[in-house]
Amino acid sequence: MLKFKCRDVGFDCGFVAKGKTEEDILAQCGEHATKDHGMKPEDVTQELKDKIKSNIHKSLF
Ligand SMILES: [Zn+2]
Repeated sequence: MLKFKCRDVGFDCGFVAKGKTEEDILAQCGEHATKDHGMKPEDVTQELKDKIKSNIHKSLF
């Protein structure tokens, strides 16, 4: 199980994405960013995706 906390990339936010693959997490983050942070799909840049990827951690839960 992989886990990503929105807070880890600098948002004051309690969102946590959980998934089996990085792609899964990125998809959830893209949806979360547009829905809950008012970001446009084009605001989710490669740079932000890389930042998210580097903050994905393996979790036992
Ligand atoms: Zn968030």
